[in-house]
Amino acid sequence: MTRVYISRDMASVALGSDAVAEAFARAGCEVVRTGSRGLFAIEPLVEVETAEGRIGYGPVGPDDVAAILDGSHGHRLGKVEALPFFAKQQRFTFARCGVADPLDIASYDWRGLKAARAMAPQAVVDAVKASGLRGRGGAGFPTGIKWQTVLATAADEKFIVCNADEGDSGTFADRMLMEGDPFCLIEGMAIAGHAVGAGHGYVYIRSEYPYAIDTMRRAIELAASKIAPFTLEVRVGAGAYVCGEETALLDSIEGKRGQVRAKPPLPAIQGLFGKPTVINNVLSLAAVPFILAEGADAYAAVGFGRSRGTMPVQIAGNVKNGGLFEIGFGITLGELVEEIGGGTASGRPVRAVQVGGPLGAYMPPSMFHLPFDYEAFAAAGGLIGHAGITVFDDSVDMARMARFAMEFCAVESCGKCTPCRIGSTRGVETIDRIIEARALPVAPAEAGAVMGPGGALASYGPGLRRGDGVEAALGSRSPLRLDRARDKDIGLLRDLCDTMKYGSLCALGGFTPYPVLSALDHFPEDFGGAPALHEAAE
Ligand code: SF4
Repeated sequence: MTRVYISRDMASVALGSDAVAEAFARAGCEVVRTGSRGLFAIEPLVEVETAEGRIGYGPVGPDDVAAILDGSHGHRLGKVEALPFFAKQQRFTFARCGVADPLDIASYDWRGLKAARAMAPQAVVDAVKASGLRGRGGAGFPTGIKWQTVLATAADEKFIVCNADEGDSGTFADRMLMEGDPFCLIEGMAIAGHAVGAGHGYVYIRSEYPYAIDTMRRAIELAASKIAPFTLEVRVGAGAYVCGEETALLDSIEGKRGQVRAKPPLPAIQGLFGKPTVINNVLSLAAVPFILAEGADAYAAVGFGRSRGTMPVQIAGNVKNGGLFEIGFGITLGELVEEIGGGTASGRPVRAVQVGGPLGAYMPPSMFHLPFDYEAFAAAGGLIGHAGITVFDDSVDMARMARFAMEFCAVESCGKCTPCRIGSTRGVETIDRIIEARALPVAPAEAGAVMGPGGALASYGPGLRRGDGVEAALGSRSPLRLDRARDKDIGLLRDLCDTMKYGSLCALGGFTPYPVLSALDHFPEDFGGAPALHEAAE
């Protein structure tokens, strides 16, 4: 019987992989459902087991079974791991994703957990510290230091909490890992439990991820005897963005409305139910089995500066090769977008990329030399965040993207602090005024008249001309005044961003200024056309 491998990752299913799997089963094949390899342009992907190894075909449909089985299909890819998109990767965390049946516990070796349990807890924490692993959720805080604090805090009960509330647009690595290799995350959490003395853990997953929830629940059941006495359970979040903030997430698990807590006390000292708690992102915990199995040095050997190890980068938006690309830190932004991503799907020039989700900075191609590194991005006014890259072509309107950031913050704000709750709404209004002023046409010749004696007004908008008797009524909409009003609004917007950045309690209010200010700094022509208006007036 021919064996074929087909992804059941949510993205692959959305592209039709279930129908393809059913067609192969009807044709008498043994169908193994895997996670996704991570390149969505070739999904639905089928890999046929042959004497030369697994041969991939994609994208394919349910009518392609016969052509695939006789090897004549036009989308024959050969060995998938040899494709440039995969051959360039360093898959430490995602090594099994897309390759193995996620729930085949017999094929999972638990080498990291076995190694950890043969070591004293302090030695495990030391290994994580030596690896240089930093929190992959966005903050980049050293994971080993966090674990050390929990280990050093005496308590009758401690917890491990996995933040799987992946809510950033353009990010999907947590979901892919949970659907494609759940045992890797479970093993990482069990190692953390041994390292700090915690007996129970929670995986907090947003309700928009039903496949991940189901896969994790089934995997936890299968793995119970492997990780005992450590125990685990899944908690489902209702989808509030703020519950991705670690203290709001703890409140949510406790059954309360998710609201950000003031720090101190740190969750490592007083976290879930008031007990010392390790709270890490999916990717941080899933990196740990490799560190324990292969050694901290093997992990730390890869990377750039203080950013050690690999990062599963998610490339999305208007891009040819969207997907997950795991690579050591240090690769440049330009390589990720142009070489790995292949440029835009529309074929138009790349104008901007947003790195780090909806709260990340927009970067123009002139910044593509930046190495993927926490410090390099911070110095350039950006952040790596959860390593999502969203690509835009030259048709993007950056003022509208800035507005989207403020609107996102207004919708998702938990309302606890004023700069975020009120500032985001005032930010939307201010950008709306800038966009409205920008939309009023100023013909160069007529605009020149504005500067002339008498200050006569020349252009007010479609159909309105000098002598129409509207000068007095629309005096406040003079291009000259609009220019001044726009400058005032931009100044106001920048002040507002400063207030939000330094006066907000958590990252939602504090990081919303990143996309707004970067759009203002790098694409000023989209905010009322300062260069265009000034040129027109000259
Ligand atoms: S910054 Fe916004 S989301 Fe965060 S605590 Fe303040 S109001 Fe809530």
